[in-house]
Amino acid sequence: MLLPSTLRRLLALTNNSKALLPLRTLATVKEETIKEKYDIIIAGGGMVGCTLACALGKNSVMSNLKILLLEGSPNQTYQLKPEYSNRVVALNQNTKSLMNSLKIWRHIEKARLQPVRYMQVWDACSDALISFSSSDILDDDIAYIVENDLLLHAVNTELASTEIENLKIVYGAKISDYQLSKSDNKTATENIVKMSNGDVYACELLIGADGANSAVRKAMGVQYLSWNYDQMGVVATLHLAEETENTTAWQRWLPTGPVALLPLDNSRSSLVWSVWQDEAKRLLKLSDEEFVDAVNDALWKQYPRSKGVEACVSWMSSCLRKAGLPDGAVRQLPPSVRHITAGSRAAFPLGFGHSVRYIAPGVALVGDAAHRVHPLAGQGVNLGFGDVKDLTDLLADAIYTGYEITHHSWLEKYESSRQRHNVPTQIAVDALHRLYTVDLPPIVLARSLGLQLTNALHPLKKMIMSHATT
Ligand SMILES: Cc1cc2nc3c(=O)[nH]c(=O)nc-3n(C[C@H](O)[C@H](O)[C@H](O)COP(=O)(O)OP(=O)(O)OC[C@H]3O[C@@H](n4cnc5c(N)ncnc54)[C@H](O)[C@@H]3O)c2cc1C
Repeated sequence: MLLPSTLRRLLALTNNSKALLPLRTLATVKEETIKEKYDIIIAGGGMVGCTLACALGKNSVMSNLKILLLEGSPNQTYQLKPEYSNRVVALNQNTKSLMNSLKIWRHIEKARLQPVRYMQVWDACSDALISFSSSDILDDDIAYIVENDLLLHAVNTELASTEIENLKIVYGAKISDYQLSKSDNKTATENIVKMSNGDVYACELLIGADGANSAVRKAMGVQYLSWNYDQMGVVATLHLAEETENTTAWQRWLPTGPVALLPLDNSRSSLVWSVWQDEAKRLLKLSDEEFVDAVNDALWKQYPRSKGVEACVSWMSSCLRKAGLPDGAVRQLPPSVRHITAGSRAAFPLGFGHSVRYIAPGVALVGDAAHRVHPLAGQGVNLGFGDVKDLTDLLADAIYTGYEITHHSWLEKYESSRQRHNVPTQIAVDALHRLYTVDLPPIVLARSLGLQLTNALHPLKKMIMSHATT
């Protein structure tokens, strides 16, 4: 359960940090060593950094700005293979709108994606359930499952087809250090970006899109509230026992963490199974057959139940039935897994991270560099794409109204608009993780009754969905 002290710490840190923090000072770089100067440098070309480069480059208000994207890993040629990648993300409607506006979505659609039209989440300790259906909540798909590398490829395809003259992208460009802009009067000077090959770039605005271990954030010297969940997200591509339309996302809350199946096509789903680190190591060592058995157990096995909890849950169901509200009795049965794609198993560490400031003079953070969440609600990269949209809009507004792109009031607008959305989401996701990794009967009872009530109250469900999908 989210401790009130954790919540207070988060909010206090966010509120008490209105003054920009002092930046780390490095030795000054001589003017003649600077290879090139840019208006904007984006450090990190993951899904968020690449999309930001596309959004800024395509924005006509910014056509006079010189933009550079630096990505440490090499530019890999993408080939759509019959087998799915084991790294996928669930993209929400807001992300789809952003991708549509940038003409990236068409490349994803042309390749492949799977819509999620129904979602069922249930508690292994009580069978309390919540379900979401696109027809009764959004009148649109709940989410879309897209492979990470396909998304990156789609952005790159769009960038290649558009030929954005003011945008340069360098792959295999490892940044080794930063000398950040100093500012006494909140007007930024210049940021220096040092590359591991000795090149030096300068820019007005540096955007850190360099992931959860962001070196830009470290160079900003801002407070970063973070913890590890001591859990790993075990992923794999699953082949289901039966072919169906397969547009349902399943998530079962086990006392050890949630196991989720995200649909890929009629017969395949992607697994994201959050387990404690030792269990993750054990799962990775199993043979494919043993692993399939373990996944089927996670989906189907009957966990020990408290009689008291069961009695209360069934009493609540009958009350809801009498009141003419959904009682959760109508449920779909999850699929069984037949086998997995060989070599598709992997595990990723899971943690929480909140950068108290998203900005410093001449610097802004986006994506996992600013915030990291547990994948249980499929929110991580969607929050990052929200950053992309807001930052692009606010920078365009700043230019349009005659301000510098580094003007503090516009950067502060970006920070507050994003933190207003991201921080409550992060707190809610963290609270869910804590609430569901205990099997004490009073806690199981409280969360089961809460889940039943939420499932029954349509406006509440709608509110949750609208926050998660926007
Ligand atoms: C198991 C799992 C499942 C997930 N499922 C979902 C989901 O369903 N939905 C969802 O929304 N999110 C999901 N997420 C979260 C999502 O994957 C992340 O939020 C997302 O990858 C963050 O993207 P990013 O571009 O901000 O950071 P990253 O992907 O970390 O990209 C950072 C980039 O910066 C580059 N970089 C770093 N340092 C340097 C340097 N010094 N020089 C040059 N380049 C550098 C790196 O090479 C990298 O390309 C999941 C995460 C996990 C672990």
